[in-house]
Amino acid sequence: MKDFKFSNTGKKLTSSIIRELLKDVSIPGMISFGGGVPDPSTFPRYELSEITQKVIEEEFSYSLQYGPTEGDDVLKKAYIEYLKKNEGIKGLSTENLLITVGSQSALFLLSLVLLDKDSKYFVSKPVYLGAASAFSMRSTNHIDLPLSENGIDTELLEKKLAELASSGEIKNVKFIYVIPNFHNPAGVTLSLERRKKLLELADKYDLLIVEDDPYGDLRYEGEAIPSMFKMAGKDRVLLLKTFSKVLSPGMRLGFVIGHEEFIRKLVLAKQAVDLCSPSLTQRIAGRFLQKYDLKELLKPTIDMYRKKKDLMLEELKKNFSDMQGVHWTKPQGGLFIWLTLPEGFDTMEMMDYGKKNGILFIPGAAFSIGGGCDNSMRLSFCLPPEKDIVEGVKRLKQTVLEYGKE
Ligand code: PMP
Repeated sequence: MKDFKFSNTGKKLTSSIIRELLKDVSIPGMISFGGGVPDPSTFPRYELSEITQKVIEEEFSYSLQYGPTEGDDVLKKAYIEYLKKNEGIKGLSTENLLITVGSQSALFLLSLVLLDKDSKYFVSKPVYLGAASAFSMRSTNHIDLPLSENGIDTELLEKKLAELASSGEIKNVKFIYVIPNFHNPAGVTLSLERRKKLLELADKYDLLIVEDDPYGDLRYEGEAIPSMFKMAGKDRVLLLKTFSKVLSPGMRLGFVIGHEEFIRKLVLAKQAVDLCSPSLTQRIAGRFLQKYDLKELLKPTIDMYRKKKDLMLEELKKNFSDMQGVHWTKPQGGLFIWLTLPEGFDTMEMMDYGKKNGILFIPGAAFSIGGGCDNSMRLSFCLPPEKDIVEGVKRLKQTVLEYGKE
């Protein structure tokens, strides 16, 4: 390859397994439990189309122009109302919000303003790959916390923090990154007790919690648990939200909610990255929130995803309950189930068997930095039609059996 004199960071960049895998989605007859994208039929396209025409024709001097780096005040105010009504978060002003190009760019901005080469941060194992990539651009010193049905292991966190404190390394620890609801990829939710424990530890060691919550609005059953941002406030927690799973990922709108001084620092970083988020989609979303009750509009989407999730769980039970050592998470919302096979199974190797059988899944290793999770896989139930969920789980069973025999 020609020597383009890439930086060390540039040299280390490699294509993700997920991107490679998604290429196989187009093979005829293939059933995919791979991609984590929402079902396009859920996008409120007629409502958005009507608003878009108005926003372009009547508000073109804002919507087709550069906008403020901080984000569109129309959308910010509407979203502050949304958070108050639906999450009980009060007392926010527009200075507590930054609108980003999806929450992926928020993760990258955080990495820019928080991490140095020697910084440490806590993430879950398995981890959301996008966060791992954003953080590792600046520092690779992640500390892993295993996940169980109730979210990250706070006992282990406590132990590790005490060790870091006694070795003097605690000063390099910058934040604890958590996905509180319906984790990607694991589907699990952080319990109220663990949220409290996490806040207690964050207080004790003066650490920031980065609460990344793209899926909280997609709850299919059970009681909502308050966000840590609501419980502890802007001094301790930075909340990340996005419209990607509830409105449209193509609009690329994410929100950082936090202390005004922190937000100001992110704004300065964002000026260097992209000047501003798209004025057009921000204003469309702002007018959309003013006109419609998003929570109400989400109800059919939630019904559809719940049905698909229940069906996948039922099919997993039918096909795998006779296999010793196979277990899977039972999410109350979100888009993902995490299936674990007995020790010794390597789901990365199994992908070729899966492809032959016409079934795609994401191997656990894709969500693990530096190894591990080899015998697990992420299954997404939101996109395939119901008949494909039934057929797909059968193909998965066959794949597991074939691989197990070799
Ligand atoms: N965080 C988590 C946990 C996610 O699952 C995703 C999307 N898959 C994102 C952040 C980024 O989403 P977006 O940039 O589309 O807002």
